[in-house]
Amino acid sequence: MPESRRLFFALSLPTALQKQVIRWRADNFEPEDGRPVAAANLHLTLAFLGDVSDQKAGVLREIATRIQSPAFSLRLDDLGHWPRPGVVWLGTRRAPLALLQLASLLRSHAARNGCHQSTLPFHPHVSLLRGATRPVALPAATPQWQLDATDFSLYESRFHQGRTRYQCLQSWPLLAAPP
Ligand code: ATP
Ligand code: MG
Repeated sequence: MPESRRLFFALSLPTALQKQVIRWRADNFEPEDGRPVAAANLHLTLAFLGDVSDQKAGVLREIATRIQSPAFSLRLDDLGHWPRPGVVWLGTRRAPLALLQLASLLRSHAARNGCHQSTLPFHPHVSLLRGATRPVALPAATPQWQLDATDFSLYESRFHQGRTRYQCLQSWPLLAAPP
């Protein structure tokens, strides 16, 4: 049986932003609202690959290495709740074109390499709470954070001893804007 791993491409959050987000989350949600996502696990998924063989992962890594996509800044200024998957999320009211293009490129390469892609439109978000299937009172004021995306990464997701952990396998730089 060939090895397979559960993989996804995502943007990471810098540690300083992780800290701000979890401090704000602790002040604005109740324990019964949902399970807080661990600070180190906060991320914005660009393309979910599912269970992938090491060989296919190698092909997708090669493709990622060749991507020349510009860096961008993303305002995290939107907040929402999807009761069905049970997620409270942080998002953006205006997704930069560079973000949409990067996600679209990664998702189309994933699909061409046999990774099933959801037919739902891409909705860039950072999951804050999981298991949030009951109504949640969202804070009236949404914070105004900025995420400066200078690279994107491939992560492995592992469920072990009742916890989901992500491990960054590799990162690739986004192109800096010309001065
Ligand atoms: P868990 O499922 O263990 O509660 P999780 O959802 O964070 O935790 P994964 O299911 O491995 O862990 O998902 C990794 C990332 O990929 C998450 O951002 C998740 O929202 C996203 N993801 C998972 N499944 C899909 C899918 N079918 N389509 C798009 N994105 C997905
Ligand atoms: Mg999941």
